[in-house]
Amino acid sequence: MSETLRPKLLVVGSGPGGYVAAIRAGQLGIDTVLVEGDRLGGTCLIRGCIPSKALIHVASRFAEMADTAGLRRIGLSLDRPPALDLAAAMRWKDGVVGRLEAGVAALLERAKVRVLRGWAKFSDAKTCRVTGPDTDASVAAEHVLLATGSLPTELPELPFGGAVLSSTEALALDRLPRRLAIVGAGYIGLELGTAFRKMGCEVAIVEAQDRILPLYDEELTAPVRRWLDRAGVRLYLGAQALRLRDGEVATLEVRTASGETVALPADNVLSTVGRRPRLAGWGFETMAVDLAGPFVAVDDQCRTAMRNLWAIGDLVGEPMLAHKAMAQGEMVAELIAGERRHFAPAAIPAICFTEPEIVSVGLAPREAAGEGVLSAQFPFAANGRALTLEGERAGGFVRVVARRDNRRVLGIQAVGPQISELAGEFAHALEMGAVLEDIAGTIHAHPTLGEAFHEAALRALGHPLHI
Ligand code: FAD
Repeated sequence: MSETLRPKLLVVGSGPGGYVAAIRAGQLGIDTVLVEGDRLGGTCLIRGCIPSKALIHVASRFAEMADTAGLRRIGLSLDRPPALDLAAAMRWKDGVVGRLEAGVAALLERAKVRVLRGWAKFSDAKTCRVTGPDTDASVAAEHVLLATGSLPTELPELPFGGAVLSSTEALALDRLPRRLAIVGAGYIGLELGTAFRKMGCEVAIVEAQDRILPLYDEELTAPVRRWLDRAGVRLYLGAQALRLRDGEVATLEVRTASGETVALPADNVLSTVGRRPRLAGWGFETMAVDLAGPFVAVDDQCRTAMRNLWAIGDLVGEPMLAHKAMAQGEMVAELIAGERRHFAPAAIPAICFTEPEIVSVGLAPREAAGEGVLSAQFPFAANGRALTLEGERAGGFVRVVARRDNRRVLGIQAVGPQISELAGEFAHALEMGAVLEDIAGTIHAHPTLGEAFHEAALRALGHPLHI
């Protein structure tokens, strides 16, 4: 029998935006219902951040072992090359996802959030029906928070299905394709391409722009490009994927930058050309809400044009990142509880879990140009910890960008081994309004990769110690 619920807050979608909003709302004593049609955790936990990083870990361990077997460089050897059981690796990855999903469920329960398992369909901005295998409910809420996330963009010439995979299917393969063609050299395509190459696939990447990771500057992406070249990943830049042709061996037809058409043999094609906000199929059109391009338009408190209708996460635009969605979700819950909040972060860190990893926070030199900026970098080749990790070979560095007049830090970028773990320190420096002297005056533990950040600040001030 259908029940009717009248909570103060209805959250639609349990991705990092929605579930964090619901937990925080519950903690603040707000009567909250969370509706989720799929598994708890959304894109990030079920088919995005977590499974991709688990697969990258497996691939990196495998590649290290294979490298050890062949090279004996650091005094290690294996009697025979390592073997990869992709199905078993996927089961381990699913186990990690499952544990975290159960954790989200427990946190929601502890915060006294009512979870409805089913798809919400709205008849107006505040009223919906939720239906699922065990759910049939009507919900009329005072506040509605839209956190329906995003879906992979499909190219008309390469519709998903059969040999053409989105990242979701690529993260669930139980047999390694021998040849994988990837369309799109953004961070998702490159992270997965790197992982599949490390696991032994022949990888080719087709990108319409003339370089990889077009959102980052070339100085930062050069070490990644070098790794791809050394690993034998074939890059077709300034190129267009035309169609997949069936045959004894399927081939992806590509128009190259020089205008010729080449046929790439491919057991699978992974299409990672972007993501679009999930607006269709759940009654969004019944809501009088403005759009900003393809996204839901919101102000700096994540309010839509309609009173008490809020939207967060991938639905509201770039950067489409989990930590941005979480921060917005937490803020909206606090606003509904009566707190004074705005979404005005000094910086939102972005990471590519490539080989090596890239972190970018705040402005790059070319974005800050004109403000009277100085920038300095410190190479990992001169950092002791990087050498003990064999990490200097990648050619990475930490770079700081600061104002020349008051030495206020405007941006920090790094490329190097395991550098993702420094994203918090970088973002913290920007959020606290650090000047170069603050970083130079902070004792960084030795030997750590973080010392390269310290040294980059010293170098910007004109007195580096270790270079
Ligand atoms: P989502 O996580 O997309 O969640 C939306 C939820 O809403 C879904 O569970 C969906 O089922 C549900 N839903 C939608 N409509 C309805 C409805 N009508 N009724 C009920 N439920 C509904 N970001 C990072 O920060 N770091 C990373 O390393 C990273 N790696 C990624 C790797 C991959 C392969 C992919 C695809 C993405 C990655 N991302 C990463 C991006 C990240 O996953 C998203 O930015 C994040 O999940 C967005 O969160 P969200 O809450 O806005 O929406």
